[in-house]
Amino acid sequence: MKLTRKASVAGAGIIAAALALTACGGSTGGTDTSSAAAAATPYSVASSVSLTGSPTYDKIKSGGKITIGVKEDQPGLGLKDPTTGQYSGFDIEIARWMAASLGMSADKITFQAIPSSNREQALANGQVDLYVGTYSITDKRKALVDFAGPYFVTGQGLLVKKSNDSIKSEKDLDGKKVCSATGSTPIQNIKTNYPKAIPVEFDVYSKCIDALNSGQVDVVTTDQAILLGYAAQDPDNLKVVGQPFTTEKYGIGLKKGDTALRTFLNDTLTKGKDVWSKIYDSTLGKSGLKVAQPAVDNYPAS
Ligand code: GLU
Repeated sequence: MKLTRKASVAGAGIIAAALALTACGGSTGGTDTSSAAAAATPYSVASSVSLTGSPTYDKIKSGGKITIGVKEDQPGLGLKDPTTGQYSGFDIEIARWMAASLGMSADKITFQAIPSSNREQALANGQVDLYVGTYSITDKRKALVDFAGPYFVTGQGLLVKKSNDSIKSEKDLDGKKVCSATGSTPIQNIKTNYPKAIPVEFDVYSKCIDALNSGQVDVVTTDQAILLGYAAQDPDNLKVVGQPFTTEKYGIGLKKGDTALRTFLNDTLTKGKDVWSKIYDSTLGKSGLKVAQPAVDNYPAS
């Protein structure tokens, strides 16, 4: 099915029955993107929801480009290849899919690495149009930004050196140096609920991994999905221990109050279950772990 951008974003009555990742030649490009640009986007997407009244979409459309905040040091989720500059991972593909649904082919996307503590500000001041980077939906954050989704569910976990036998679960954190990212839900959980643990913070998780490797900290804590990516990169040296001990629902961050955009992205996620599965299978799912796409939560705008 070939859909024009107009049809895909303006709700011209066409609802894609067959959302699919095509091997070559995407069909979201339309009248005002070049054919080369359209070919660079592998996602064919359509939503019947109108974007009328979305300030973010108006900005994207008039500028002909989209800036998406991401992580660049989280293997499997959001990773930048230092040599090629290419981004890869589950979050990156979700971001490309959402951009495609808004009529923005891959070459119209600028990815910008924004650490955990700066996400709300980057969305509020328009530095990024969307944020797709292991961003948990929380009530505190909902006061500052809106979220589409959730598009993935994981939970807080623990990563230690393979030689470590003293930390087997979150019950073993007393007196241990526990590293996580500033402004993240896991570091907050440690500070609030594990008062005998010694929190150590960096802006990004890769610095916690360096600190773990050098012996500066005993354990790295953040979402299990993130930790599994680091462990997979260095299986002889690192291991994930215990079971997830929180629930983290990942949302697509957007500017507070842009209800039209949130509704549109939720509709795209809901209709695109097969796109989601293909994205998952080609990224995080390569580990063999099977998970289902969560249902979106159309929380009322406050
Ligand atoms: N999902 C958690 C959060 O949003 C941890 C991962 C992260 O810092 O991005 O805080």
